[in-house]
Amino acid sequence: MLFEGCAQNGGFGEASVMQLIAVKAEQRRTPLNMHLELTYRCNEQCVHCYCVVEHGKEAEAAKRELTYEEIVRVLDQLAELGCLYVTFSGGEVLVRRDFFDIVEHARRRGFVYRVYTNGIGLTEERARAVVEQAGLLLSLSGKGLPPPLPLRAVPRRGYVDVDPAFTQIWATQVDMGLSDYDLFFTVGHNIGRPGCRAPDLGLDWVAAEQRVRARAG
Ligand code: SF4
Repeated sequence: MLFEGCAQNGGFGEASVMQLIAVKAEQRRTPLNMHLELTYRCNEQCVHCYCVVEHGKEAEAAKRELTYEEIVRVLDQLAELGCLYVTFSGGEVLVRRDFFDIVEHARRRGFVYRVYTNGIGLTEERARAVVEQAGLLLSLSGKGLPPPLPLRAVPRRGYVDVDPAFTQIWATQVDMGLSDYDLFFTVGHNIGRPGCRAPDLGLDWVAAEQRVRARAG
């Protein structure tokens, strides 16, 4: 959504809601985003990794990690400071037995959180627990949702089209599983607009920005 010089963003000209929030957060010294490395332990040992703990030394490394209670305290303090986003990272977060309790606390405190994981150790049971907590699922292109998990039960399911025109044309030829979704985003800003020659498939496409940006200076 863009506010274009309206009352809410007086002085900022054309700015997205997120840009306005970021400016306010900077003015108030609010830590809007937090990146928490919960562990340096991992079930892999990739040669390029900067935080790998040698296998066999995990127990030693675990002693130096924040405990569940300490992480809960950090999350509570962040919530009180106005932080909105938390990224949980490692190492591999799933090696922590309390990982899902940590996530549950973040959810209760209202954070938008994301998780970096290599997926090893994500059993079907654990994956189901994650899916059952989700409020929004976003698929970056691809086809419909695979059946093994209850993905279709997530309340809002968004399809993010990063191949504009191709996606819509393919969908006229093959079943892309688009009926699994109820929100449709596209980086093709002309999709669905008058004069666009790609079919809109009768869907309400919302224009989305590509998240790759160049920064000057
Ligand atoms: S944290 Fe990621 S990059 Fe590092 S060893 Fe584990 S899987 Fe590999």
